[in-house]
Amino acid sequence: MLSILPTTPTGATVSVKAVHLGRVAAMPSSFFYTPTGVARLGSSSYTAPIYAFLIEGKERVMFDLGIRKDEQTYPPRVQKAYAGMRKTGPVEFEVDQEAHEKLPAKGVSLDSVKAVIWSHRHIDHIGDMSKFPSTTRLVVGEETELRPYPELEMSGITHGDIDGRDIQKIPFSSGDLTIAGLRAFDYFSDGSLYILDTPGHCAGHVSALARVTPSTFVLLGGDCCHHPGSLRPSPHHAGCPFVPADTPTLPLGDGMYDDVDTARNTVEKLAVLDANEDVLTLLAHDDTLSDVMKEIPDNVDDWKEKGWKSKVMWKFKENLRGMAAGAL
Ligand SMILES: [Zn+2]
Repeated sequence: MLSILPTTPTGATVSVKAVHLGRVAAMPSSFFYTPTGVARLGSSSYTAPIYAFLIEGKERVMFDLGIRKDEQTYPPRVQKAYAGMRKTGPVEFEVDQEAHEKLPAKGVSLDSVKAVIWSHRHIDHIGDMSKFPSTTRLVVGEETELRPYPELEMSGITHGDIDGRDIQKIPFSSGDLTIAGLRAFDYFSDGSLYILDTPGHCAGHVSALARVTPSTFVLLGGDCCHHPGSLRPSPHHAGCPFVPADTPTLPLGDGMYDDVDTARNTVEKLAVLDANEDVLTLLAHDDTLSDVMKEIPDNVDDWKEKGWKSKVMWKFKENLRGMAAGAL
């Protein structure tokens, strides 16, 4: 059988390190899931970690930067959005160190980070680019809206994030590479890091497929979905302990997804990768990873050797307080 995973003549790999940048301490779970999903979760409050990832290959690049400590430093429209969300329920974040503080504390100088890839333009992923040297490039999906506040009143991006900095929009439309039916871009031109076009949560959202050994990968999913139960199970997954076993346990709701149909389509394609024994999915907000995944300076590269996948694949069932016993 032909593998869905890309082959490479170079054998080049990257090393990937998780950077834990705080927690979503509370958000209404109805933003993320359908009423069925909320009932299965058994909680009206969504909580989750915030992960970004350091990728070391031909260059050092960050995939996402997490969130700022002080929401007052965001443009006024973001604060209005917070206020609007808080009419539905509590919205709280906990942040000890931002990316530009944590990386140097872990021995990674900011000027050694040659690029930051934003999975998308939301504030819990873009960090504070103004703290990085102007030589650090910003890389985004092709359809990403980059106008800052105040030119775009609703923007969470500031002039400090983008002014004076090289910006690369991934040119998906000028290539013909696809992986699992998703448009793809060979970032280092050596098969070690592919950027995947994964829209739905918002326009321009991207994920990354990083080759951490010659034959194994991690899929950095960003916010393609916000819980592994929105990706699993699918008809591609084997050994699912749930009933039904062919549709995601926590279906995507439309509150957090600009285009929920597109998001579902993206997730269906990513599920093929997620089900592959040589791919480990690392979503930006997956709470089930913390038992196995240590953060920087440790790397995640030997996940397969360590058997992480079988440990985390269905771990989320432990948190589904609303699922009837017979459905598990
Ligand atoms: Zn997010």
